[in-house]
Amino acid sequence: MMVDWNKVFDNFGIKKVSKTDKTKSAYLPNEKQRLAIEAAGILPADERPAPSFEVTVLFDPATPTILSSYYYSERSPDAERNPEPRMGHGIISSWLAQGDKVLIGNIGSQLFVAKLDFAPISQVAASQEIIKRANRQVIFDRAIAATGKPPKRPVERAEFIRNPYIVAAVLLRSDGKCEMPDCSRELFTRDDDSTYLEVHHVVPLSEEGDDTFINAAALCPHCHREVHHGKNRHALRNKLRVYIEAMEA
Ligand SMILES: [Zn+2]
Ligand SMILES: [Zn+2]
Repeated sequence: MMVDWNKVFDNFGIKKVSKTDKTKSAYLPNEKQRLAIEAAGILPADERPAPSFEVTVLFDPATPTILSSYYYSERSPDAERNPEPRMGHGIISSWLAQGDKVLIGNIGSQLFVAKLDFAPISQVAASQEIIKRANRQVIFDRAIAATGKPPKRPVERAEFIRNPYIVAAVLLRSDGKCEMPDCSRELFTRDDDSTYLEVHHVVPLSEEGDDTFINAAALCPHCHREVHHGKNRHALRNKLRVYIEAMEA
């Protein structure tokens, strides 16, 4: 699925960094990128050296922000042509490389840049990563201003059809307890007084794991989320795998 950048940015444009951009250390933004830069309140400077400003860099943990400038190129002797604004400084001299697909977008007065090859492919992940970096007040202002029901779109996706006997057998094996070793969380019960547990694949089906009794574990909601999203997920996965394998041996 393609990310719809319109959902997060007020304006944005995408361009591939050209050889000239790089050799001249002067990035020539395209029209949509210029719109985003100027919507953020940055206008091309006439003075030299052009003043610098900070741009928020997305999807690059090693470079949270980068300095840029925005200025009119020297007027060509052929005065018929309007000078085109360029971006200078670290953004093009050190950060961008020839061939990078660069997105420049704004959220209010905050300007963002991203190399698209490093962007998440899912809309949710991309939006969350961008908005996390946005100005705190802007996040609250926009959330509070939003009203009504969200739009719907039809979703078609391929789902794995899990074997219901494996789900049932794993729940029986768990005897109502989370199978993550050492988990001592208090569990809640369903209407029928059975303990609420989720059946998880130790090696996920998306990673070519099998839908088998030995590759499935009953987990409490906390352990389940943690084994998917926690910083320690790799260690937890291993611990769970060793435990289930030992039990089934
Ligand atoms: Zn799972
Ligand atoms: Zn647990």
